[in-house]
Amino acid sequence: MSAPVSDLYGVFDRLDPREQRTLEGLRAVLERDLAPQLAGAWERAELPPSLYAPLIGLDLMAPPALGGDEPSALYEGYRSFELARVDASLATFYNAVAGLFRTLVRLGASPAQRAAWDPEIAAWRFTGVFALTEPEHGSDIARGIATTCRRDGAGWVVDGAKRWIGGAGQVQKIAVFARDVTEGADARAVRCLLVDAGAPGLTLSPITGKASLRIMQNYDLRLEGVRVADEGRLGGISTFADVANVLRATRSMVAWMASGAAAGAYEAALRYTTRREQFGHPIAGFQLVQEKLARMLANVTASLALVSNLTERQTAGVLRDEDSALAKMFTAERLRETAALAREVCGGNGITLDADVARFHADAEAIYSYEGTHEINALIVGRAATGLSAFTRR
Ligand SMILES: Cc1cc2nc3c(=O)[nH]c(=O)nc-3n(C[C@H](O)[C@H](O)[C@H](O)COP(=O)(O)OP(=O)(O)OC[C@H]3O[C@@H](n4cnc5c(N)ncnc54)[C@H](O)[C@@H]3O)c2cc1C
Repeated sequence: MSAPVSDLYGVFDRLDPREQRTLEGLRAVLERDLAPQLAGAWERAELPPSLYAPLIGLDLMAPPALGGDEPSALYEGYRSFELARVDASLATFYNAVAGLFRTLVRLGASPAQRAAWDPEIAAWRFTGVFALTEPEHGSDIARGIATTCRRDGAGWVVDGAKRWIGGAGQVQKIAVFARDVTEGADARAVRCLLVDAGAPGLTLSPITGKASLRIMQNYDLRLEGVRVADEGRLGGISTFADVANVLRATRSMVAWMASGAAAGAYEAALRYTTRREQFGHPIAGFQLVQEKLARMLANVTASLALVSNLTERQTAGVLRDEDSALAKMFTAERLRETAALAREVCGGNGITLDADVARFHADAEAIYSYEGTHEINALIVGRAATGLSAFTRR
């Protein structure tokens, strides 16, 4: 069993052999069955079931090889690395359900809801996505959720709008975060309501014209008098602090994805430069090209070292916002540089889908900005380092 060539220090070797076998199965499906479809899907900006159904079939959340044992957090991180190493859209889509939604249920549901839903999510029978961002509130969503909910009889009524919601058209439930405006409710009360994808009053509009993560489908949502039964309210979410608790965990997953996308860009550049000849030699044999390959590999190696250490610390119970914010900030920045270098060493062909780096180059931009922009993650780290919050102008 072997690590990908981009995993220079062998983080893969730290996984249980049964987890390694599962991930090798995933790698084979990605490289053999899905990679050949990617350029066409990217060009057409579509996510056909032929691209994600094979991933669902692999049972990656409850791998049969583990015989019922829980997979480790390191495995879950490496799973995102492997997915993003082949395509960042596929990784983002898979993570919307297996990472964001599942983590939300694990951390934000009541014990009874969690016991009922978590195995169903693991089997991909109960699917959902995470709807927090709004048209007028991205980075400042912690202070500005405009979507509202109010109690009405035995349920809730939701009104508002959400933006960028990944995979909303491909799942059963949309986890909508809303401010509780029921008479007498605490002014800081935030609820998370699982809205049926086909609920009356919910309108989904795909966001078109994207130049990044074109395969992944993102949606604008309008909610007008949408009704949700009380059983669809996540019992563990009452304030934004509870939402932040979920984001801390999901941001680490995005750092794994950024590391994987950087690995994919590096490996594509390595393949291209060893094949392409100029001046009678493979361009990978020129010193200036090797310097760029070395920088790319250093970026991937540093990113993998960071995210694997972060995951091990989190598994040991060290859970701090600044740790995952730092990892997301650093890995996304390294991804952006790596994808740009990969594009550069492929010359003109680097801007075509054929050389396999253009997708990573474009997709790096979305990863750089979602799940907390570079600046917002830097401000989280800065606040922890200095004790001074710099989110707003004084
Ligand atoms: C492809 C994609 C998928 C996404 N998927 C989802 C999803 O599934 N669910 C979901 O809820 N959201 C999703 N998002 C939303 C994402 O989390 C937001 O785009 C992100 O939080 C940034 O918000 P914004 O785009 O509104 O940018 P803005 O908040 O408008 O920021 C614009 C710029 O201003 C900077 N800025 C803002 N405030 C400050 C400050 N105080 N100091 C310094 N700089 C500042 C930002 O860093 C950024 O550079 C997705 C986004 C993308 C692009």
